[in-house]
Amino acid sequence: MGDNVAILGLGTMGSGMAANLLKAGFSVTVYNRTAAKAKPLTDAGARFASTPAEAVKDGSVIISMLADDTASREVWLGKDGALAATRKGAILVESSTVSPEWIAEFAKLAEQHGADLLDAPVTGSRTQAEAGQLSFLVGGKNTALTMATPVLKAMSKEVTHLGPVGSGAKMKLINNFLCGVQVASLAEGLAWIERSGLDRDKALSILKAGAPGSPLLAAISARMASKTYTVNFLLRLMTKDLLYAENEAAQCNIDLKTAEAARSLFETAIEQGLGDKDMASVIEPIRNK
Ligand code: NAP
Repeated sequence: MGDNVAILGLGTMGSGMAANLLKAGFSVTVYNRTAAKAKPLTDAGARFASTPAEAVKDGSVIISMLADDTASREVWLGKDGALAATRKGAILVESSTVSPEWIAEFAKLAEQHGADLLDAPVTGSRTQAEAGQLSFLVGGKNTALTMATPVLKAMSKEVTHLGPVGSGAKMKLINNFLCGVQVASLAEGLAWIERSGLDRDKALSILKAGAPGSPLLAAISARMASKTYTVNFLLRLMTKDLLYAENEAAQCNIDLKTAEAARSLFETAIEQGLGDKDMASVIEPIRNK
């Protein structure tokens, strides 16, 4: 396999990932629906392709980093889609947070085409994508992962193989279920602190240093406190993750009631026009009530 890597999707995460592949010396071709987002990468040496099909035709490893199932289907299977143009033997890496149901369907289509699919969603956000410090949660064949590993390592601090195809997608939804519920409960807790008459900074110090403390609580409470909603993680994407998590857990006969409750807070924020802000803005409708 050569070193030609294609990246489909240059949003918050895909842009940082592509930049690190370039820094590591890979020959990188990029595609994004909104072409203007490719400019910093083409300035740094990436080739731009105007369709997914054109982007992947020489690729040995093809990575997609797209919003959701709909976007992934569109880019892989839609008009001028990537799958039909993929070389036999290429490794396809779906790094978007998508449903395990779509991954199962996609894996079959990839196999029929003579390519292997790895589902490899990530933990870490904008900062980690830019710093090459993501963690990949991988499902799929050992052989495919061995071939893709040098490429994944250029974007990450950790690559964990969790099992057969679909395992990465499942793990990611469990991870984001816990994150989404924590962000929603933090929004309620912080709004409560603010109305209670307590000193907000002292109260947050106690929470951060105590049992509820987590890297997520530290990062999100700072953004909520300063009302800084520059996008690290789009609020509407967390809503999507909670819905996928609920559907997936239901396959195991588990009702994610806490995910449902958290999702209703995120949906209220979307109704109030906050869907394209950072997920920390989920606190605003609670503050404003
Ligand atoms: P983002 O900034 O919203 O980027 C989404 C990408 O998907 C863009 O390239 C967008 O193209 C493309 N897209 C959306 N709908 C499409 C469609 N119908 N057809 C073709 N392309 C479409 O999202 P992100 O933050 O980079 O996240 C990407 C994925 O990683 C998501 O699944 C997210 O849940 C997951 N994730 C995000 C984070 C985070 O902290 N941000 C962390 C871990 C995982 P345009 O530029 O044209 O809109």
